[in-house]
Amino acid sequence: MKIKKAIQIQLGIYRRLLRNELPAMVFLGDGRTATLGDEVDPVVDEFITGMRALLDLPQQPAVRYSHSKCRICPYDAHCRPDFEAKEDISLLYGIHGKAAEHLAEAGISTISQLAMSTVESIPDVPYLKGNKRKHRAILQAGSFLSGKVFQLNKAALPEGTWIHFDIEDNPLTPDRERHVYLWGFLVPAYTRENFDYVWTDDETGDYDGWLGFLQKIEEYRSNYSPLVLAHYSNHEKATIRQYAERYAMKNHPTVTWLLGDDSPLFDMQNPVLDCLVLPLQGYGLKDICKHPDLVNFQWENEESGSQWSVVQFNRFRLETDLAEKQKLKTEILRYNRDDVIATRRLEVWIRKLFL
Ligand code: SF4
Repeated sequence: MKIKKAIQIQLGIYRRLLRNELPAMVFLGDGRTATLGDEVDPVVDEFITGMRALLDLPQQPAVRYSHSKCRICPYDAHCRPDFEAKEDISLLYGIHGKAAEHLAEAGISTISQLAMSTVESIPDVPYLKGNKRKHRAILQAGSFLSGKVFQLNKAALPEGTWIHFDIEDNPLTPDRERHVYLWGFLVPAYTRENFDYVWTDDETGDYDGWLGFLQKIEEYRSNYSPLVLAHYSNHEKATIRQYAERYAMKNHPTVTWLLGDDSPLFDMQNPVLDCLVLPLQGYGLKDICKHPDLVNFQWENEESGSQWSVVQFNRFRLETDLAEKQKLKTEILRYNRDDVIATRRLEVWIRKLFL
């Protein structure tokens, strides 16, 4: 099995820093693990030599912004002012660093220049081809500069009673595929008290949790027809598919309904991506909801997030003190409750926008 080079380097360096002879263990997310030992030394040496050469340069090398890498990089505060001062096009959502390079060669090197461009004046460059993408890039530049929201199309939202849905799963599930420890819902009238969920304490309850989820869906189906099960991103649907395969239940009537042509599942990220251009660098649920000029919904626990939830759940699994265990569970439930309240607020915000 081939482990990504970046992970080989990262773990190889940790082993070296720790002066540890033990192999590093990689959790592959599907229940399997892999180990990395001395065999990764050549790529680690190559990386360290390359880094030393960079450090010896008299000037900082030219770089482009990458939202996924820079926002979690400890040097973000150092690099960002320079990107912003230059109005680097790679700061924009959907603009790859390579596209920014090619646009600069074509004379479009700042966000202002891109905002003033026309679709016809932008050449086809890698990662930015076709009128639709170019039109979006121009609006994204305008939105970045002005803070305005642009509407591309009218969002078509399905009719019915909406129930908001979000899951929390554990990529560190020992010796098996990831376990969904929490299937969370927000039902009408959409207040905090209307949070509903299926919880399992550990992976031994995986099957029961899945059955509990299917039962909940059937309850909602009979109480709220037609039902819309709204979620943000494809993760919920993909997870239902994985569970159906895991327990050989693809033909279960609830599963065929959830995954079939008349599915009640509705991914709210689709209308956002298809219909809106927002003054954001990422189109995740938290990016949109936390922004004070957009949805402006704040999670009760500012530190919470999906990775935070995984850490709390793994602490919960190991905790032996019952009071502490209950406290951890309550915090995880609150976080998931805020996630589904956020998708509800997003729904309301989108409806207002398209009135
Ligand atoms: S913040 Fe700077 S150092 Fe960090 S990934 Fe981005 S460009 Fe590289």
